[in-house]
Amino acid sequence: MNELRSHPVAPQKLYIDGAWEEGTGEAQDVLSPIDGSRLTTIVRASAADVDRAVAVARHAFEDGRWSRAAPAHRKKVLHKLADLIEAHALELAVLGVRDNGTEIGMAMKAEPGSAAGTFRYYAEALDKVYGEIAPTAPGILGLVHKEPVGVVGAIVPWNFPLMIGAWKLAPALAAGNSVVLKPAETASLTLLRLAELATEAGLPDGVFNVVTGQGSVTGEALAMSMGVDVLVFTGSGGVGRRLLEYAARSNLKRCYLELGGKSPNVVFADASDLEQAAKVSAAGIFRNAGQVCVAGSRLLVEDSVHDAFVDALARHAAAMKVGDPLDLTTNIGAVNNMPQLESNLGFVTRAVEEGATLALGGSRVLEDTGGYYMEPTVLTGVKPQDNVAQNEVFGPVLAVTPFTSDEEAVQIANSTKFGLAAGVWTSNLSRAHRMVRDIQAGVVHVNTYGGPDTTVPLGGVKQSGNGHDKSMHAFDKYFDLKTAWMQL
Ligand code: NAD
Repeated sequence: MNELRSHPVAPQKLYIDGAWEEGTGEAQDVLSPIDGSRLTTIVRASAADVDRAVAVARHAFEDGRWSRAAPAHRKKVLHKLADLIEAHALELAVLGVRDNGTEIGMAMKAEPGSAAGTFRYYAEALDKVYGEIAPTAPGILGLVHKEPVGVVGAIVPWNFPLMIGAWKLAPALAAGNSVVLKPAETASLTLLRLAELATEAGLPDGVFNVVTGQGSVTGEALAMSMGVDVLVFTGSGGVGRRLLEYAARSNLKRCYLELGGKSPNVVFADASDLEQAAKVSAAGIFRNAGQVCVAGSRLLVEDSVHDAFVDALARHAAAMKVGDPLDLTTNIGAVNNMPQLESNLGFVTRAVEEGATLALGGSRVLEDTGGYYMEPTVLTGVKPQDNVAQNEVFGPVLAVTPFTSDEEAVQIANSTKFGLAAGVWTSNLSRAHRMVRDIQAGVVHVNTYGGPDTTVPLGGVKQSGNGHDKSMHAFDKYFDLKTAWMQL
């Protein structure tokens, strides 16, 4: 790993039509959050570059080189890509960590590990998708075909680029579509490398293209493109809102949005092991420096165990090591970029102004490294309507609020505009089921936090989004239905 950590990273290009292209935009420095040093450059793709990538993807789709390839062939190529991701797992993980700051222990599993698994899942699924024969009157044959949608535009964030990229790419490619993907400006490197590996795996040129650059230029051009049929996105609600506008102003492309969260983690006094609950809850908010969409960022604790539980959680949090994400003993890596770190600190300042108590952390640390690090931060006495309880920090900041009854727990849990994830800790089975039923969220963890795999969907309700990644449910986004109505 030491060799990989200092390995020079060549200036990056765009990946279009199975080859590297200079593009027409200028270069942008990539700063490593580990120490603030310049890692390499990426290209800020212009609207013209995006148009070219979309045209290439469209051409590849229409000539059938992938869209009409035999399912058995597509399956083989996607399995080969998974093999290559696994063979290059350490290289990909270290490159990604240098780019985005996630601690390496988590990155190995969540990035190449998860991406390879996702490609295998959809490789296996693709030849199990059947059309339908409708129960029509005898003189008619009604067939429902499932067809790939065409060109998929994918825009992804910086927290887990390979994992989230694969959640979009794997089902899109498995269904036979072509893809143009735009990574986040501060986490492009692993997805560029993935494109190269896809070519090596046998994916035909032009089927998977990567355009890097700014959201407001490259991302907007992709979302406005008349040549993109479906747009899949993971990121913030503000950008998601714009994408819907772009779709309305262009070709009414379908947009599937996976957005942010402010997920409640609800601890009842009857939880069977409060110490374990405290430990898992600390990991559930602080791993990857809180830059996890489903992070349990609001802790709701039953009044009778509030103080003891918060003490236990703070003890576990304080024992988590913040630091160099390439150090295997690190539990909390770097914040991805300086504006995000400043935003995190701003949330803490305002929370204290609004009356919360700083029970742990609250500051930037390891500033002398030049990197962007923040200590795990626990705010107690947070009122449900406070800024830090209502808005996503996307950093290592936990807002704690006590409750006294099941009804109050549900009411506070549902009191934000978000509905992505939740946690419930109780040994009462009926209460657990009631909470799963009553809490508005795409996933409710019971007596654990985090970890759902590819077999189950991930998606939000309310303003956390409108689509699902993972599982067979996500596959539907990448197919159109076509009816054949035949007089016999
Ligand atoms: P972001 O919304 O700032 O950026 C996401 C992507 O959108 C980036 O590639 C960015 O360049 C692009 N973008 C920005 N402006 C754009 C524009 N005008 N037009 C088109 N594209 C544009 O999000 P982020 O800061 O990279 O990631 C953090 C957010 O992502 C958080 O809100 C987090 O909760 C969310 N997230 C959600 C999930 C989920 O599954 N629901 C998973 C991970 C992250």
